Parts: sequence; C-alpha cells; structure tokens
Amino acid sequence: MIISLEKQVALVTGASSGLGYACAEALAQAGAAVVINYHSQQEPAESLAARIRERGGQAIAVGGDVSQEADVDALFAQAINAFGRLDILVANSGLQKDAPIGEMTLADWNKVIEVNLTGQFLCARAALRQFRQQEADPALSRASGKIIHMSSVHQVIPWAGHANYAASKGGIDLLMRSIAQEIGEERIRVNAVAPGAIKTAINEDTLQGDAGQKVLELIPYGRIGAPEDVANAVVWLASDLSDYVHGTTLFVDGGMSLYPGFRDNG
Ligand code: NAD
Repeated sequence: MIISLEKQVALVTGASSGLGYACAEALAQAGAAVVINYHSQQEPAESLAARIRERGGQAIAVGGDVSQEADVDALFAQAINAFGRLDILVANSGLQKDAPIGEMTLADWNKVIEVNLTGQFLCARAALRQFRQQEADPALSRASGKIIHMSSVHQVIPWAGHANYAASKGGIDLLMRSIAQEIGEERIRVNAVAPGAIKTAINEDTLQGDAGQKVLELIPYGRIGAPEDVANAVVWLASDLSDYVHGTTLFVDGGMSLYPGFRDNG
C-alpha cells in the first residue's frame, strides 16, 4: 500500500540535518508540503527545500529556536502564511550536552531541557492551536491533526553521563501521553518515535570504530540504524494507516530497548 500525504502540510523542527532532514524528505516524497525548520544551519535546509521544489513538491525553510516562544510563534505563522494550514508536526529538534552528573553545569542541564523538552511543548501547543483553528478536512486525513514527538530509547533506558538528555526524553514520554489523553477526543493524534542508535551528527563520535562495535552489541537486530528507518516510521505515524494509534511510542531501535545485556544471563 502506498502512503499518500497529498495536500497535507507538515512542519519538521531541526530539519537541516540527521533525522529531521530525513523526515522532511520522506514526508515530501509522500506528497506533503513541508516546512523545514533550522536553527543555525540555513544552507542545508534551504537546499533541501530547493531540491523538493525541483522535484515538483512544495517546501520552505524557516529559521527559529524551538526553545523560544516568540520564535515558535513566528515559525508557525510563516508556515500558515505559506501553505494555509498545518496537518502534521514532527517535533524533532534535540541536542546533547554530556557530563558526569557531578560535573554537569546548570547551564548544560537547562539548555538540554529547554531545547529537548520545552521546545517540544511549545511546538505541540502551537500545532494544537492551529489544528483547533482550522477546518478539519476528512478528505485529507481521518485525524484533525497529527503530532509526532521525537523521543529516544533513553526515555526508558537510563544513560550514565547523559542525565540531562535522559531526563528530557523521559519527560517527552509523559508530555506526549498527557497531551494524547487530553486532546484525543478532538481527533488529534499524538504519538512519539523513540530511535535507538541512528547514524547522524549527534553521535558521530560514539558510532565509529571500537565504540561503534560496542554499540552494535547493544542491538539485537545487529545493525546501526539509518535516518530513513526513523523517517519511514514517522511517515506511517503521520498517515491514516496508523489512524488508531494514539498515545504510543514506537521504538525504532533494532531491539535496543530489549536490554540485550540480559540475553546470556539466565
Ligand atoms: P542532529 O544533531 O543531526 O539533529 C538535531 C537537530 O536539532 C539539528 O538540526 C539542530 O540544528 C536542531 N536544533 C538544535 N537546537 C535547536 C533549537 N534550539 N531550535 C531548533 N532546532 C534545534 O541529530 P539527530 O540524531 O538527527 O537528532 C534528532 C532528534 O532525534 C533529537 O531529538 C535526538 O535526541 C533524537 N534521537 C537521535 C538518535 C540518534 O541515534 N541519532 C537517537 C535517539 C533520539
């Protein structure tokens, strides 16, 4: 079955690289008009938008810091100005500022929470407000809007040396499920994707050489993920094929969250 998101509008945050970039590209391939948010890397976001337009799709790149309320308001205003409506939000932006807990600065704690968690709250709220304001169109989608949060396996797997990151992702789980519980009856679907180890800029160092080999031991399926693995899951969650999926986290992790360290321990 071919997924079509024709005439729907998707906004992807942090889409100038990695998973966000792949999600924006895949959503465009499925027919959606795409708003490509970037923070500091304008060039790759603009060239992705240009490439989508060359292929006959619709896309714009819009800058903005998801942790700043005014930026988020401006981002969504530009999206609506360009395409007239919004159907899909992929709240993807995220970063790491790693340190052993005794050495973690308050600034690094705050930065990760502000971008990874507050940013997802601000974007989900802006999307929800837009969904409520616009006319639902059952010819486009059975849901009146779809919100997809980018979480991580570290919403359940504790991560020494990354307490700020794991706390932000654990927070996304309950943020997502609470919003889903609250607004489901409005037929707005809210879900999350929890990637495992996917090769992108965020983990350039940890997936190379010996370190990469050690990570492989944590993945029962036996390979490091590619951004397309996550993008395919996002496209499915954005489509009517997942219309009865609500308040769920889809783990895209090759089984990393199965705690494979216990495999030979019985
Ligand atoms: P990445 O570094 O390529 O992408 C992160 C994106 O977030 C970048 O485009 C960056 O510009 C953007 N960003 C950072 N601060 C921002 C801000 N203040 N406002 C707007 N955008 C901002 O890494 P990635 O792997 O593509 O990560 C994307 C998401 O996937 C993150 O939420 C990350 O936690 C999550 N994730 C990634 C992996 C993985 O293995 N790559 C695993 C689990 C979860």
